[in-house]
Amino acid sequence: MRICAGCFKAEDWKNRFKLEPKRICSCSFCGKKTKTVDFEVFLSPLQRLLSLFTKNERGGNIVQLIERDFAIFSNDGTAKRILQCAIQLSGNSFSLKDKVSYLGEVSSALMAWMKMKKGVVEEFRYFPLINPEDESWDKYFASKFAVIKKGTVFFRGRINDNANKPYTKKKELGMPPREKARAGRVNPYGIPCLYLTDMADTTIYELRATHGDKLSVGKFIVKENLNIVDFNYKPLLLDDIYEGQEKLFETVREFLLKKQIGLDLSKPVHRYDVKEIEYVPTQYICEYIKVHGADGVMFNSAVHHGGKNLVLFKSDKVRCTGVEVKTVDEPVMRFCQ
Ligand SMILES: [Zn+2]
Repeated sequence: MRICAGCFKAEDWKNRFKLEPKRICSCSFCGKKTKTVDFEVFLSPLQRLLSLFTKNERGGNIVQLIERDFAIFSNDGTAKRILQCAIQLSGNSFSLKDKVSYLGEVSSALMAWMKMKKGVVEEFRYFPLINPEDESWDKYFASKFAVIKKGTVFFRGRINDNANKPYTKKKELGMPPREKARAGRVNPYGIPCLYLTDMADTTIYELRATHGDKLSVGKFIVKENLNIVDFNYKPLLLDDIYEGQEKLFETVREFLLKKQIGLDLSKPVHRYDVKEIEYVPTQYICEYIKVHGADGVMFNSAVHHGGKNLVLFKSDKVRCTGVEVKTVDEPVMRFCQ
Protein backbone atom coordinates (compact mmCIF):
# COMPACT_ATOMS: atom_id res chain seq x y z
CA MET A 1 0.00 0.00 0.00
CA ARG A 2 1.15 3.53 -0.78
CA ILE A 3 0.48 6.80 1.01
CA CYS A 4 1.03 10.46 0.03
CA ALA A 5 2.08 13.53 2.07
CA GLY A 6 -1.29 15.15 1.31
CA CYS A 7 -2.98 12.61 3.59
CA PHE A 8 -1.31 14.31 6.57
CA LYS A 9 -1.80 17.74 8.11
CA ALA A 10 0.78 17.58 10.94
CA GLU A 11 4.15 18.96 9.82
CA ASP A 12 6.25 16.28 11.54
CA TRP A 13 4.40 13.49 9.70
CA LYS A 14 4.63 15.35 6.38
CA ASN A 15 8.37 15.93 6.88
CA ARG A 16 8.96 12.22 7.23
CA PHE A 17 8.32 11.90 3.46
CA LYS A 18 11.57 13.74 2.70
CA LEU A 19 13.55 10.80 4.08
CA GLU A 20 11.86 8.03 2.10
CA PRO A 21 12.15 6.85 -1.53
CA LYS A 22 9.10 7.98 -3.50
CA ARG A 23 7.17 6.64 -6.47
CA ILE A 24 4.42 8.31 -8.48
CA CYS A 25 1.21 6.27 -8.25
CA SER A 26 -2.28 6.46 -6.76
CA CYS A 27 -2.38 6.97 -3.00
CA SER A 28 -4.20 4.01 -1.41
CA PHE A 29 -5.99 6.33 1.01
CA CYS A 30 -6.97 9.51 -0.85
CA GLY A 31 -6.79 8.15 -4.42
CA LYS A 32 -4.68 11.02 -5.71
CA LYS A 33 -2.00 10.21 -8.30
CA THR A 34 1.10 11.76 -6.79
CA LYS A 35 4.43 11.03 -5.06
CA THR A 36 3.86 8.22 -2.58
CA VAL A 37 5.87 6.17 -0.08
CA ASP A 38 5.36 2.64 1.23
CA PHE A 39 2.68 2.62 3.96
CA GLU A 40 5.00 0.34 6.02
CA VAL A 41 6.96 3.50 6.93
CA PHE A 42 4.03 4.73 8.99
CA LEU A 43 2.70 1.44 10.24
CA SER A 44 4.74 1.12 13.43
CA PRO A 45 4.33 4.84 14.38
CA LEU A 46 0.57 4.41 13.93
CA GLN A 47 0.63 1.26 16.04
CA ARG A 48 2.41 3.18 18.80
CA LEU A 49 -0.18 5.94 18.51
CA LEU A 50 -3.01 3.41 18.82
CA SER A 51 -1.31 1.91 21.89
CA LEU A 52 -2.28 5.07 23.82
CA PHE A 53 -5.91 3.90 23.82
CA THR A 54 -8.00 1.11 25.25
CA LYS A 55 -11.58 -0.04 24.73
CA ASN A 56 -13.95 1.79 27.05
CA GLU A 57 -17.73 1.93 26.81
CA ARG A 58 -17.73 5.46 28.24
CA GLY A 59 -15.04 6.65 25.85
CA GLY A 60 -15.19 8.19 22.39
CA ASN A 61 -14.43 7.46 18.78
CA ILE A 62 -10.74 6.83 18.04
CA VAL A 63 -10.71 9.01 14.90
CA GLN A 64 -12.30 11.95 16.68
CA LEU A 65 -10.01 11.62 19.73
CA ILE A 66 -6.83 11.56 17.64
CA GLU A 67 -7.93 14.39 15.39
CA ARG A 68 -9.16 16.57 18.29
CA ASP A 69 -5.94 16.21 20.26
CA PHE A 70 -3.22 15.88 17.61
CA ALA A 71 -4.69 16.92 14.22
CA ILE A 72 -2.45 14.46 12.33
CA PHE A 73 -4.50 13.69 9.21
CA SER A 74 -5.75 15.94 6.41
CA ASN A 75 -9.44 15.22 7.13
CA ASP A 76 -11.69 12.80 9.02
CA GLY A 77 -12.37 10.58 5.98
CA THR A 78 -8.67 10.02 5.34
CA ALA A 79 -8.02 9.56 9.06
CA LYS A 80 -10.68 6.85 9.15
CA ARG A 81 -9.21 4.93 6.22
CA ILE A 82 -5.63 5.13 7.50
CA LEU A 83 -6.50 4.17 11.08
CA GLN A 84 -8.79 1.36 9.89
CA CYS A 85 -5.91 -0.09 7.93
CA ALA A 86 -3.42 0.32 10.81
CA ILE A 87 -5.85 -1.33 13.24
CA GLN A 88 -6.40 -4.28 10.90
CA LEU A 89 -2.71 -4.82 10.23
CA SER A 90 -1.70 -4.59 13.86
CA GLY A 91 -4.35 -6.82 15.46
CA ASN A 92 -5.53 -4.22 17.97
CA SER A 93 -7.92 -5.19 20.73
CA PHE A 94 -10.45 -2.61 19.47
CA SER A 95 -11.97 -1.82 16.10
CA LEU A 96 -12.77 1.54 14.52
CA LYS A 97 -16.37 1.21 15.74
CA ASP A 98 -15.49 0.63 19.41
CA LYS A 99 -15.49 3.39 21.96
CA VAL A 100 -12.04 4.02 23.41
CA SER A 101 -10.30 6.19 25.98
CA TYR A 102 -6.70 6.92 26.93
CA LEU A 103 -4.99 4.20 28.99
CA GLY A 104 -4.94 4.88 32.75
CA GLU A 105 -1.15 5.35 32.72
CA VAL A 106 -1.49 8.02 30.02
CA SER A 107 -4.27 9.98 31.75
CA SER A 108 -2.78 9.62 35.26
CA ALA A 109 -1.58 13.24 35.56
CA LEU A 110 -4.98 14.49 34.39
CA MET A 111 -6.69 12.31 37.01
CA ALA A 112 -4.35 13.65 39.72
CA TRP A 113 -5.37 17.22 38.75
CA MET A 114 -9.08 16.33 38.92
CA LYS A 115 -8.52 14.93 42.42
CA MET A 116 -6.48 17.96 43.48
CA LYS A 117 -9.10 20.40 42.22
CA LYS A 118 -11.55 18.92 44.69
CA GLY A 119 -9.02 18.57 47.50
CA VAL A 120 -7.83 22.17 47.40
CA VAL A 121 -11.41 23.45 47.67
CA GLU A 122 -12.75 20.98 50.21
CA GLU A 123 -9.85 19.73 52.29
CA PHE A 124 -6.46 21.47 52.41
CA ARG A 125 -6.31 24.95 50.85
CA TYR A 126 -2.69 26.05 51.36
CA PHE A 127 -0.89 22.73 51.66
CA PRO A 128 -2.74 20.45 49.26
CA LEU A 129 -1.92 16.80 49.60
CA ILE A 130 -0.51 15.22 46.49
CA ASN A 131 -0.61 11.47 46.52
CA PRO A 132 2.90 10.11 45.82
CA GLU A 133 1.28 7.43 43.67
CA ASP A 134 0.13 10.16 41.33
CA GLU A 135 3.78 10.60 40.31
CA SER A 136 5.33 14.02 40.27
CA TRP A 137 2.57 15.36 38.01
CA ASP A 138 3.45 18.94 38.92
CA LYS A 139 6.96 18.65 37.39
CA TYR A 140 5.53 19.83 34.06
CA PHE A 141 5.24 23.34 35.47
CA ALA A 142 8.48 23.62 37.39
CA SER A 143 11.06 23.83 34.61
CA LYS A 144 9.65 23.37 31.12
CA PHE A 145 8.78 26.84 29.90
CA ALA A 146 7.78 28.03 26.45
CA VAL A 147 9.45 31.24 25.28
CA ILE A 148 7.71 34.34 23.93
CA LYS A 149 10.28 36.30 21.97
CA LYS A 150 11.30 39.88 22.60
CA GLY A 151 9.39 42.18 20.24
CA THR A 152 6.12 40.18 20.27
CA VAL A 153 3.03 42.38 20.52
CA PHE A 154 0.06 41.93 22.89
CA PHE A 155 -2.98 44.02 23.82
CA ARG A 156 -4.95 45.04 26.88
CA GLY A 157 -8.34 46.71 26.78
CA ARG A 158 -10.50 48.63 29.25
CA ILE A 159 -14.10 49.65 28.78
CA ASN A 160 -14.48 53.40 29.25
CA ASP A 161 -17.15 53.88 31.90
CA ASN A 162 -17.22 57.55 31.01
CA ALA A 163 -17.39 57.60 27.20
CA ASN A 164 -16.57 61.32 27.14
CA LYS A 165 -13.38 60.79 29.11
CA PRO A 166 -11.72 57.66 27.73
CA TYR A 167 -8.50 56.21 29.11
CA THR A 168 -5.74 57.50 26.87
CA LYS A 169 -2.67 57.37 29.09
CA LYS A 170 -0.34 54.39 28.80
CA LYS A 171 -0.23 53.91 32.57
CA GLU A 172 -4.05 53.62 32.68
CA LEU A 173 -3.76 50.46 30.59
CA GLY A 174 -1.12 48.89 32.85
CA MET A 175 -1.47 46.42 35.71
CA PRO A 176 -4.26 47.35 38.17
CA PRO A 177 -3.15 48.56 41.63
CA ARG A 178 -3.18 46.03 44.45
CA GLU A 179 -6.37 47.41 46.05
CA LYS A 180 -8.27 47.05 42.78
CA ALA A 181 -7.02 43.56 41.88
CA ARG A 182 -10.12 41.40 41.75
CA ALA A 183 -9.81 37.64 42.08
CA GLY A 184 -9.66 35.71 38.83
CA ARG A 185 -8.77 32.24 37.67
CA VAL A 186 -5.07 33.14 37.67
CA ASN A 187 -4.73 35.46 40.69
CA PRO A 188 -6.29 35.69 44.14
CA TYR A 189 -7.83 38.93 45.40
CA GLY A 190 -5.22 41.61 46.12
CA ILE A 191 -2.42 40.09 44.01
CA PRO A 192 -2.58 41.83 40.63
CA CYS A 193 -1.58 40.33 37.27
CA LEU A 194 -1.42 41.87 33.81
CA TYR A 195 -4.05 40.31 31.53
CA LEU A 196 -3.12 40.61 27.84
CA THR A 197 -4.43 39.14 24.59
CA ASP A 198 -2.58 38.23 21.40
CA MET A 199 -5.08 40.04 19.14
CA ALA A 200 -6.68 43.46 19.63
CA ASP A 201 -10.14 42.02 18.82
CA THR A 202 -9.87 39.41 21.57
CA THR A 203 -10.01 42.22 24.16
CA ILE A 204 -13.54 43.11 22.96
CA TYR A 205 -14.72 39.57 23.65
CA GLU A 206 -12.79 39.09 26.89
CA LEU A 207 -14.19 42.35 28.30
CA ARG A 208 -17.72 41.25 27.35
CA ALA A 209 -18.05 44.58 25.50
CA THR A 210 -21.30 45.11 23.63
CA HIS A 211 -22.41 47.13 20.61
CA GLY A 212 -21.78 50.83 21.23
CA ASP A 213 -19.20 50.42 24.03
CA LYS A 214 -16.14 52.61 23.82
CA LEU A 215 -12.88 50.77 24.56
CA SER A 216 -9.32 51.88 25.14
CA VAL A 217 -6.89 49.30 23.80
CA GLY A 218 -3.23 49.48 24.81
CA LYS A 219 -0.56 47.94 22.63
CA PHE A 220 2.23 46.19 24.57
CA ILE A 221 5.61 45.09 23.28
CA VAL A 222 7.69 42.37 24.94
CA LYS A 223 11.00 43.95 26.09
CA GLU A 224 12.85 40.71 26.81
CA ASN A 225 12.08 37.03 26.22
CA LEU A 226 9.28 35.74 28.45
CA ASN A 227 9.26 32.29 30.04
CA ILE A 228 5.71 31.08 30.23
CA VAL A 229 3.62 27.94 30.59
CA ASP A 230 1.46 27.54 27.51
CA PHE A 231 -1.57 25.39 28.31
CA ASN A 232 -2.84 25.07 24.76
CA TYR A 233 -0.58 23.52 22.19
CA LYS A 234 -0.67 20.56 19.86
CA PRO A 235 2.30 18.29 20.58
CA LEU A 236 4.34 16.94 17.66
CA LEU A 237 4.31 13.24 18.39
CA LEU A 238 6.41 11.59 15.72
CA ASP A 239 9.84 12.17 17.32
CA ASP A 240 8.52 10.89 20.63
CA ILE A 241 7.03 7.86 18.90
CA TYR A 242 10.47 7.01 17.48
CA GLU A 243 12.04 7.52 20.91
CA GLY A 244 9.85 4.81 22.37
CA GLN A 245 6.63 4.16 24.18
CA GLU A 246 7.61 5.71 27.52
CA LYS A 247 8.56 9.02 25.91
CA LEU A 248 5.30 9.05 23.95
CA PHE A 249 3.25 8.29 27.06
CA GLU A 250 5.06 11.07 28.95
CA THR A 251 4.37 13.65 26.23
CA VAL A 252 0.68 12.76 26.04
CA ARG A 253 0.37 12.68 29.86
CA GLU A 254 1.66 16.26 30.00
CA PHE A 255 -0.50 17.35 27.07
CA LEU A 256 -3.76 15.98 28.58
CA LEU A 257 -3.02 17.63 31.93
CA LYS A 258 -2.23 21.03 30.43
CA LYS A 259 -5.19 20.89 28.06
CA GLN A 260 -7.58 20.39 30.98
CA ILE A 261 -6.01 23.14 33.09
CA GLY A 262 -6.17 25.40 29.99
CA LEU A 263 -9.91 24.71 29.77
CA ASP A 264 -10.32 25.41 33.48
CA LEU A 265 -8.41 28.69 33.13
CA SER A 266 -10.43 29.90 30.19
CA LYS A 267 -13.88 29.36 31.75
CA PRO A 268 -15.63 32.73 32.01
CA VAL A 269 -14.91 34.42 35.33
CA HIS A 270 -17.54 37.03 36.03
CA ARG A 271 -20.61 34.89 35.54
CA TYR A 272 -23.43 35.20 38.02
CA ASP A 273 -23.28 31.51 38.98
CA VAL A 274 -19.50 31.35 39.53
CA LYS A 275 -18.32 31.50 43.13
CA GLU A 276 -14.82 32.74 43.88
CA ILE A 277 -13.98 29.45 45.52
CA GLU A 278 -14.04 27.87 42.07
CA TYR A 279 -10.95 29.89 41.16
CA VAL A 280 -8.84 28.32 43.89
CA PRO A 281 -7.47 25.28 41.96
CA THR A 282 -6.20 27.33 38.99
CA GLN A 283 -4.93 30.07 41.31
CA TYR A 284 -2.97 27.36 43.13
CA ILE A 285 -1.38 26.01 39.94
CA CYS A 286 -0.56 29.51 38.66
CA GLU A 287 1.11 30.44 41.94
CA TYR A 288 3.09 27.21 41.74
CA ILE A 289 4.25 28.26 38.28
CA LYS A 290 5.14 31.74 39.57
CA VAL A 291 7.18 30.29 42.46
CA HIS A 292 9.18 28.28 39.92
CA GLY A 293 10.25 31.38 38.05
CA ALA A 294 7.91 31.69 35.06
CA ASP A 295 6.79 35.13 33.91
CA GLY A 296 3.21 34.07 33.23
CA VAL A 297 0.73 31.67 31.68
CA MET A 298 -0.97 31.49 28.30
CA PHE A 299 -4.30 29.83 27.41
CA ASN A 300 -6.98 29.98 24.73
CA SER A 301 -9.77 32.49 24.91
CA ALA A 302 -13.10 30.78 25.59
CA VAL A 303 -15.03 33.64 24.02
CA HIS A 304 -12.99 34.53 20.90
CA HIS A 305 -12.14 31.65 18.58
CA GLY A 306 -8.40 31.58 17.84
CA GLY A 307 -7.58 34.27 20.43
CA LYS A 308 -5.15 33.68 23.27
CA ASN A 309 -4.79 35.18 26.73
CA LEU A 310 -1.38 35.90 28.23
CA VAL A 311 -1.36 36.64 31.94
CA LEU A 312 1.88 38.04 33.38
CA PHE A 313 2.70 37.92 37.08
CA LYS A 314 4.71 41.15 36.77
CA SER A 315 4.58 43.90 34.20
CA ASP A 316 8.28 44.80 34.00
CA LYS A 317 9.06 42.80 30.84
CA VAL A 318 6.46 44.52 28.63
CA ARG A 319 6.02 48.17 27.68
CA CYS A 320 2.86 49.94 26.56
CA THR A 321 3.65 51.70 23.29
CA GLY A 322 0.32 53.40 22.63
CA VAL A 323 -3.39 53.53 23.36
CA GLU A 324 -6.18 53.51 20.79
CA VAL A 325 -9.78 54.40 21.63
CA LYS A 326 -12.33 52.49 19.59
CA THR A 327 -16.07 52.02 19.56
CA VAL A 328 -17.60 48.58 19.14
CA ASP A 329 -19.58 49.28 15.98
CA GLU A 330 -20.96 45.81 15.31
CA PRO A 331 -22.90 43.33 17.45
CA VAL A 332 -20.45 40.99 19.18
CA MET A 333 -21.00 37.32 18.36
CA ARG A 334 -19.36 35.26 21.05
CA PHE A 335 -17.76 31.92 20.44
CA CYS A 336 -18.10 29.52 23.33
CA GLN A 337 -16.00 26.41 23.90
ZN1 LIG B 1 -3.05 10.45 -0.02
